[in-house]
Amino acid sequence: MRRRDFLRHAAAAGIGCLATSGVRSHGGSGDTPPGFPVIISTWPFGREANLEALSVLKSGGSALDAVERGVMTAEADESISTVGYGGFPNRDGTVQLDAAIFDGSTLDGGAVCALTGHRHPVQVARKVMENSPHLILVGEGASSFAIAEGFTHQETLSEAARAAYQKWRQKHPDGQGKAEGHDTLGQVVLAASGKIAAACTSSGMAWKLPGRVGDSPIVGHGLYADDAVGGCVATGVGEEISKVCGSFLVIELMRQGASPDQAIGETLDRIARRPGQIPSISAAFVAVARDGRHGAGAIGSDFHYAITRGTETQVVKVKPRNRKG
Ligand code: ASP
Repeated sequence: MRRRDFLRHAAAAGIGCLATSGVRSHGGSGDTPPGFPVIISTWPFGREANLEALSVLKSGGSALDAVERGVMTAEADESISTVGYGGFPNRDGTVQLDAAIFDGSTLDGGAVCALTGHRHPVQVARKVMENSPHLILVGEGASSFAIAEGFTHQETLSEAARAAYQKWRQKHPDGQGKAEGHDTLGQVVLAASGKIAAACTSSGMAWKLPGRVGDSPIVGHGLYADDAVGGCVATGVGEEISKVCGSFLVIELMRQGASPDQAIGETLDRIARRPGQIPSISAAFVAVARDGRHGAGAIGSDFHYAITRGTETQVVKVKPRNRKG
Protein backbone atom coordinates (compact mmCIF):
# COMPACT_ATOMS: atom_id res chain seq x y z
CA MET A 1 0.00 0.00 0.00
CA ARG A 2 1.37 3.44 -0.89
CA ARG A 3 1.93 5.80 1.99
CA ARG A 4 -0.86 8.17 0.97
CA ASP A 5 -3.32 5.29 0.71
CA PHE A 6 -2.07 3.91 3.98
CA LEU A 7 -2.75 7.21 5.76
CA ARG A 8 -6.19 7.50 4.17
CA HIS A 9 -6.93 3.95 5.29
CA ALA A 10 -5.81 4.78 8.84
CA ALA A 11 -7.98 7.90 8.92
CA ALA A 12 -11.00 5.96 7.63
CA ALA A 13 -10.47 3.45 10.41
CA GLY A 14 -10.89 6.26 12.95
CA ILE A 15 -7.30 6.18 14.10
CA GLY A 16 -6.31 9.46 15.62
CA CYS A 17 -9.47 10.22 17.59
CA LEU A 18 -8.09 10.92 21.03
CA ALA A 19 -9.69 9.90 24.27
CA THR A 20 -9.92 12.63 26.86
CA SER A 21 -9.15 10.50 29.87
CA GLY A 22 -7.12 13.21 31.55
CA VAL A 23 -3.95 11.18 31.17
CA ARG A 24 -0.85 13.28 30.71
CA SER A 25 1.35 13.13 27.65
CA HIS A 26 5.12 13.11 28.19
CA GLY A 27 5.59 15.90 25.75
CA GLY A 28 4.62 16.02 22.18
CA SER A 29 6.00 12.88 20.61
CA GLY A 30 2.53 12.10 19.33
CA ASP A 31 2.47 15.36 17.36
CA THR A 32 5.38 14.47 15.12
CA PRO A 33 4.23 14.14 11.53
CA PRO A 34 4.43 10.48 10.62
CA GLY A 35 7.15 9.24 8.30
CA PHE A 36 7.48 5.56 7.45
CA PRO A 37 8.72 3.15 8.49
CA VAL A 38 8.48 3.82 12.22
CA ILE A 39 10.82 1.86 14.48
CA ILE A 40 10.96 2.34 18.23
CA SER A 41 13.21 0.65 20.76
CA THR A 42 13.85 0.87 24.47
CA TRP A 43 17.11 2.38 25.75
CA PRO A 44 19.95 4.16 23.98
CA PHE A 45 21.31 0.89 22.63
CA GLY A 46 17.99 0.66 20.82
CA ARG A 47 19.57 3.05 18.31
CA GLU A 48 21.76 0.29 16.87
CA ALA A 49 18.76 -2.01 16.87
CA ASN A 50 16.73 0.56 14.92
CA LEU A 51 19.47 1.09 12.34
CA GLU A 52 19.73 -2.64 11.79
CA ALA A 53 15.96 -3.06 11.54
CA LEU A 54 15.82 -0.20 9.05
CA SER A 55 18.47 -1.78 6.87
CA VAL A 56 16.56 -5.08 6.92
CA LEU A 57 13.40 -3.29 5.75
CA LYS A 58 15.36 -1.43 3.08
CA SER A 59 16.68 -4.67 1.71
CA GLY A 60 13.17 -6.06 1.41
CA GLY A 61 12.84 -7.88 4.74
CA SER A 62 9.53 -8.07 6.58
CA ALA A 63 8.63 -6.29 9.84
CA LEU A 64 9.21 -9.61 11.58
CA ASP A 65 12.67 -10.00 10.01
CA ALA A 66 13.45 -6.43 11.01
CA VAL A 67 12.63 -6.82 14.72
CA GLU A 68 14.45 -10.14 14.89
CA ARG A 69 17.65 -8.78 13.32
CA GLY A 70 17.21 -5.49 15.16
CA VAL A 71 17.24 -6.90 18.68
CA MET A 72 20.02 -9.34 17.79
CA THR A 73 22.41 -6.35 17.74
CA ALA A 74 22.17 -6.03 21.52
CA GLU A 75 22.23 -9.80 22.06
CA ALA A 76 25.62 -9.85 20.34
CA ASP A 77 26.99 -6.79 22.12
CA GLU A 78 29.11 -7.96 25.02
CA SER A 79 29.14 -4.50 26.60
CA ILE A 80 25.39 -4.62 27.31
CA SER A 81 24.91 -6.32 30.66
CA THR A 82 21.16 -6.87 30.41
CA VAL A 83 20.73 -8.70 27.10
CA GLY A 84 22.22 -11.78 25.42
CA TYR A 85 25.97 -12.37 25.62
CA GLY A 86 27.24 -9.98 28.28
CA GLY A 87 24.00 -10.28 30.25
CA PHE A 88 24.45 -10.76 34.00
CA PRO A 89 23.66 -14.22 35.38
CA ASN A 90 21.24 -15.45 38.01
CA ARG A 91 22.35 -15.94 41.61
CA ASP A 92 23.87 -19.34 40.76
CA GLY A 93 26.08 -17.74 38.09
CA THR A 94 24.08 -19.05 35.11
CA VAL A 95 22.88 -16.72 32.34
CA GLN A 96 19.23 -17.47 31.64
CA LEU A 97 17.83 -15.52 28.71
CA ASP A 98 14.25 -14.56 27.89
CA ALA A 99 12.98 -13.44 24.48
CA ALA A 100 9.83 -13.25 22.41
CA ILE A 101 8.73 -12.19 18.97
CA PHE A 102 5.20 -11.32 17.90
CA ASP A 103 3.57 -10.76 14.54
CA GLY A 104 0.83 -8.12 14.54
CA SER A 105 -0.53 -9.40 11.22
CA THR A 106 -1.27 -12.94 12.39
CA LEU A 107 -1.30 -12.48 16.18
CA ASP A 108 1.16 -15.35 16.24
CA GLY A 109 4.31 -15.42 18.30
CA GLY A 110 7.09 -17.45 19.83
CA ALA A 111 9.02 -17.19 23.08
CA VAL A 112 11.77 -18.77 25.11
CA CYS A 113 12.24 -18.40 28.84
CA ALA A 114 15.32 -19.10 30.96
CA LEU A 115 17.20 -20.28 27.88
CA THR A 116 20.81 -21.30 28.50
CA GLY A 117 23.65 -21.83 26.05
CA HIS A 118 22.42 -19.62 23.20
CA ARG A 119 23.33 -15.99 22.64
CA HIS A 120 20.41 -15.19 20.36
CA PRO A 121 17.24 -16.20 22.17
CA VAL A 122 15.10 -14.15 19.77
CA GLN A 123 16.15 -16.42 16.89
CA VAL A 124 15.10 -19.45 18.90
CA ALA A 125 11.82 -17.69 19.76
CA ARG A 126 11.12 -17.18 16.06
CA LYS A 127 11.74 -20.89 15.44
CA VAL A 128 9.30 -21.71 18.25
CA MET A 129 6.73 -19.61 16.40
CA GLU A 130 7.42 -21.05 12.97
CA ASN A 131 8.49 -24.64 13.60
CA SER A 132 6.65 -25.76 16.72
CA PRO A 133 2.97 -25.96 17.63
CA HIS A 134 3.69 -23.97 20.81
CA LEU A 135 4.00 -20.37 21.93
CA ILE A 136 6.54 -20.68 24.75
CA LEU A 137 9.35 -23.10 25.54
CA VAL A 138 11.31 -22.89 28.78
CA GLY A 139 14.63 -23.99 30.24
CA GLU A 140 16.08 -27.29 29.10
CA GLY A 141 13.23 -27.87 26.68
CA ALA A 142 14.00 -24.57 24.98
CA SER A 143 17.73 -25.41 24.79
CA SER A 144 17.06 -28.88 23.32
CA PHE A 145 14.68 -27.35 20.80
CA ALA A 146 17.36 -24.84 19.78
CA ILE A 147 19.86 -27.65 19.20
CA ALA A 148 17.27 -29.61 17.20
CA GLU A 149 16.75 -26.48 15.06
CA GLY A 150 20.45 -26.40 14.23
CA PHE A 151 21.76 -23.80 16.68
CA THR A 152 25.05 -24.69 18.30
CA HIS A 153 25.66 -24.42 22.01
CA GLN A 154 27.53 -21.22 22.95
CA GLU A 155 29.15 -19.69 26.04
CA THR A 156 26.79 -17.01 27.29
CA LEU A 157 28.67 -15.77 30.37
CA SER A 158 31.09 -13.05 29.27
CA GLU A 159 34.28 -12.37 31.22
CA ALA A 160 32.90 -9.03 32.44
CA ALA A 161 29.66 -10.65 33.58
CA ARG A 162 31.60 -13.40 35.36
CA ALA A 163 33.71 -10.76 37.16
CA ALA A 164 30.58 -8.79 38.16
CA TYR A 165 29.01 -11.99 39.47
CA GLN A 166 32.09 -12.84 41.51
CA LYS A 167 32.06 -9.37 43.05
CA TRP A 168 28.38 -9.73 43.86
CA ARG A 169 28.98 -13.13 45.48
CA GLN A 170 31.75 -11.66 47.63
CA LYS A 171 29.22 -9.14 48.95
CA HIS A 172 26.51 -11.78 49.22
CA PRO A 173 28.28 -15.03 50.12
CA ASP A 174 24.94 -16.74 50.82
CA GLY A 175 23.63 -15.72 47.35
CA GLN A 176 20.68 -13.98 48.96
CA GLY A 177 21.00 -10.38 47.65
CA LYS A 178 18.32 -8.44 45.83
CA ALA A 179 17.79 -8.99 42.11
CA GLU A 180 18.67 -5.88 40.09
CA GLY A 181 18.18 -4.75 36.56
CA HIS A 182 16.46 -2.46 34.16
CA ASP A 183 17.28 -2.60 30.50
CA THR A 184 15.44 -5.07 28.32
CA LEU A 185 15.64 -4.34 24.62
CA GLY A 186 12.15 -4.16 23.20
CA GLN A 187 11.45 -3.05 19.66
CA VAL A 188 8.36 -2.33 17.57
CA VAL A 189 8.57 -2.03 13.79
CA LEU A 190 5.78 -0.47 11.73
CA ALA A 191 6.69 -1.12 8.11
CA ALA A 192 5.44 1.15 5.32
CA SER A 193 3.12 -1.71 4.33
CA GLY A 194 1.28 -1.26 7.64
CA LYS A 195 2.59 -4.54 9.07
CA ILE A 196 3.67 -4.39 12.69
CA ALA A 197 5.99 -6.70 14.62
CA ALA A 198 7.46 -6.59 18.11
CA ALA A 199 10.29 -8.35 19.91
CA CYS A 200 11.85 -8.35 23.36
CA THR A 201 15.13 -9.81 24.54
CA SER A 202 16.53 -9.78 28.06
CA SER A 203 18.75 -11.52 30.57
CA GLY A 204 16.02 -10.55 33.01
CA MET A 205 17.16 -9.25 36.36
CA ALA A 206 20.72 -9.74 37.48
CA TRP A 207 21.09 -12.15 40.43
CA LYS A 208 17.51 -13.37 40.03
CA LEU A 209 16.36 -16.68 41.48
CA PRO A 210 17.11 -19.48 39.00
CA GLY A 211 14.06 -20.06 36.85
CA ARG A 212 12.63 -16.57 37.34
CA VAL A 213 10.85 -15.27 34.25
CA GLY A 214 9.96 -11.59 33.79
CA ASP A 215 7.50 -9.88 31.50
CA SER A 216 9.76 -9.75 28.44
CA PRO A 217 9.02 -13.17 26.92
CA ILE A 218 5.34 -13.16 27.85
CA VAL A 219 2.97 -12.11 25.09
CA GLY A 220 0.76 -9.28 26.31
CA HIS A 221 3.12 -8.37 29.13
CA GLY A 222 6.51 -7.47 27.65
CA LEU A 223 5.21 -7.05 24.10
CA TYR A 224 2.10 -6.99 22.00
CA ALA A 225 1.19 -6.00 18.46
CA ASP A 226 -1.90 -5.93 16.31
CA ASP A 227 -1.82 -4.43 12.82
CA ALA A 228 -5.32 -3.07 13.48
CA VAL A 229 -4.07 -0.93 16.38
CA GLY A 230 -0.30 -0.75 16.93
CA GLY A 231 2.58 -2.32 18.83
CA CYS A 232 4.01 -1.93 22.33
CA VAL A 233 7.02 -3.17 24.31
CA ALA A 234 8.02 -2.82 27.95
CA THR A 235 11.05 -2.60 30.18
CA GLY A 236 11.37 -2.38 33.94
CA VAL A 237 10.37 -4.59 36.84
CA GLY A 238 8.73 -7.50 35.07
CA GLU A 239 6.74 -8.68 38.06
CA GLU A 240 4.91 -5.33 38.12
CA ILE A 241 4.48 -4.98 34.35
CA SER A 242 2.97 -8.47 34.27
CA LYS A 243 0.47 -7.75 37.04
CA VAL A 244 -1.36 -5.32 34.73
CA CYS A 245 -0.70 -7.27 31.47
CA GLY A 246 1.14 -4.07 30.51
CA SER A 247 1.69 -4.20 26.74
CA PHE A 248 -1.71 -5.71 26.07
CA LEU A 249 -3.33 -3.03 28.21
CA VAL A 250 -1.56 -0.28 26.26
CA ILE A 251 -2.77 -1.71 22.97
CA GLU A 252 -6.32 -2.22 24.23
CA LEU A 253 -6.50 1.38 25.48
CA MET A 254 -5.26 2.51 22.06
CA ARG A 255 -7.92 0.34 20.44
CA GLN A 256 -10.48 2.28 22.45
CA GLY A 257 -9.14 5.58 21.12
CA ALA A 258 -6.30 6.62 23.43
CA SER A 259 -3.12 7.96 21.86
CA PRO A 260 0.07 5.95 22.52
CA ASP A 261 1.13 8.48 25.16
CA GLN A 262 -2.25 8.39 26.87
CA ALA A 263 -2.42 4.59 26.86
CA ILE A 264 1.08 4.30 28.27
CA GLY A 265 0.35 6.94 30.92
CA GLU A 266 -2.76 5.13 32.11
CA THR A 267 -0.94 1.78 32.19
CA LEU A 268 1.96 3.24 34.19
CA ASP A 269 -0.49 4.84 36.59
CA ARG A 270 -2.12 1.46 37.17
CA ILE A 271 1.29 -0.02 38.01
CA ALA A 272 2.12 2.89 40.31
CA ARG A 273 -1.32 2.77 42.00
CA ARG A 274 -1.24 -0.93 42.90
CA PRO A 275 -1.99 -1.18 46.62
CA GLY A 276 1.27 -1.45 48.53
CA GLN A 277 3.36 -0.52 45.50
CA ILE A 278 6.80 0.84 46.35
CA PRO A 279 6.99 4.46 45.10
CA SER A 280 10.33 3.99 43.33
CA ILE A 281 9.22 1.06 41.15
CA SER A 282 10.64 1.37 37.62
CA ALA A 283 8.71 0.59 34.46
CA ALA A 284 8.58 2.03 30.96
CA PHE A 285 6.73 1.43 27.70
CA VAL A 286 7.12 2.54 24.10
CA ALA A 287 4.37 2.14 21.53
CA VAL A 288 3.54 2.91 17.92
CA ALA A 289 0.02 3.33 16.57
CA ARG A 290 -0.84 2.00 13.13
CA ASP A 291 -1.03 5.57 11.77
CA GLY A 292 2.58 6.17 12.80
CA ARG A 293 2.14 8.17 16.01
CA HIS A 294 4.39 6.97 18.78
CA GLY A 295 4.46 7.34 22.53
CA ALA A 296 6.70 6.61 25.49
CA GLY A 297 6.51 6.91 29.24
CA ALA A 298 8.23 5.82 32.43
CA ILE A 299 7.83 5.72 36.17
CA GLY A 300 10.55 5.41 38.79
CA SER A 301 13.64 6.41 36.88
CA ASP A 302 14.80 8.21 33.75
CA PHE A 303 14.24 6.32 30.55
CA HIS A 304 15.58 6.69 27.01
CA TYR A 305 14.21 5.32 23.79
CA ALA A 306 15.32 5.32 20.17
CA ILE A 307 12.91 6.38 17.45
CA THR A 308 13.34 6.07 13.71
CA ARG A 309 10.97 7.75 11.24
CA GLY A 310 11.79 7.32 7.63
CA THR A 311 15.56 7.62 7.66
CA GLU A 312 15.91 9.79 10.79
CA THR A 313 16.90 8.19 14.07
CA GLN A 314 17.19 9.86 17.45
CA VAL A 315 17.45 8.93 21.10
CA VAL A 316 14.96 10.68 23.38
CA LYS A 317 15.04 11.08 27.15
CA VAL A 318 11.83 10.61 29.14
CA LYS A 319 11.38 11.93 32.67
CA PRO A 320 9.41 9.60 34.95
CA ARG A 321 5.82 10.82 35.16
CA ASN A 322 5.73 10.36 38.95
CA ARG A 323 8.77 12.55 39.57
CA LYS A 324 7.92 16.03 40.84
CA GLY A 325 9.73 18.97 39.20
N1 ASP B 1 11.56 -6.38 32.23
C1 ASP B 1 12.75 -7.14 32.49
C2 ASP B 1 12.41 -8.25 33.42
O1 ASP B 1 11.69 -8.03 34.37
C3 ASP B 1 13.88 -6.37 33.05
C4 ASP B 1 14.05 -4.97 32.55
O2 ASP B 1 13.64 -4.60 31.50
O3 ASP B 1 14.61 -4.21 33.32
O4 ASP B 1 12.94 -9.32 33.26
